[in-house]
Amino acid sequence: SDHTLEYPESPDTMDWSLYYPAYAVESTLEDSKRPAKLSKDVEVVDIGCGFGGLLVALAPLLPETLMLGLEIRTSVTQFVQERIWALREQNGGTLYQNAACIRANTMKFLPNFFKKAQLSKIFICFPDPHFKARKHKARIVSTTLNSEYAYALRPGGIVYTITDVEALHLWMVQHLDAHPSFERVPHDEVEKDDCVKVMRDETEEGKKVARNQGQKFVALFRRLEDPPWE
Ligand code: SAM
Repeated sequence: SDHTLEYPESPDTMDWSLYYPAYAVESTLEDSKRPAKLSKDVEVVDIGCGFGGLLVALAPLLPETLMLGLEIRTSVTQFVQERIWALREQNGGTLYQNAACIRANTMKFLPNFFKKAQLSKIFICFPDPHFKARKHKARIVSTTLNSEYAYALRPGGIVYTITDVEALHLWMVQHLDAHPSFERVPHDEVEKDDCVKVMRDETEEGKKVARNQGQKFVALFRRLEDPPWE
């Protein structure tokens, strides 16, 4: 449970160099307790990344962008980390340096990991549906969590959602539509986005749904500028 989860006190105290060693820059300060800085920040996050299909497909597509999978299951997190290490090694240390995975409960500690407006994309792919009404509070899209996504996303940034459960799709659309920080991305723009293709075809769940000839419901939402202070 959560008391075994490790999370930084604030984004600045997180030592990202362990996850993205190729992007670590030496701290010029003498203080060795200070975490090494990266030459750039994490920009893309995959919420509940599962076995890492999205990350592994996206990493070569956006080779200059640091991306992070967040996964609550310890063994699955470890699997994804080892998958990425192996891919780095197989590619002579050149590719996949921009992808990593950490164990986290994204319902609790997101602002501990990311600064305001740090992210350009948040992926929510085939989240657990939690069908029963009394379980709806466990859903990864909610009014409260949407405010955390809005905080971490920069204006113009995108929340990508996909699910095979129509009721969950409608739930996510309803909650994101209702949030003042988001507007739905129009259909033609969605279809032109390469990341949507990856989300549909390269996630483990996306493949499973295709094998079972199920439907996939996609919705994207853009982070709006905050209104000026009155
Ligand atoms: N996104 C992957 C895909 O499309 O193949 C995995 C989808 S799977 C149905 C949902 C994943 O979300 C599981 O791996 C689960 O452990 C993870 N998860 C559920 N709640 C979570 C939370 N609060 N924080 C992080 N991960 C979570």
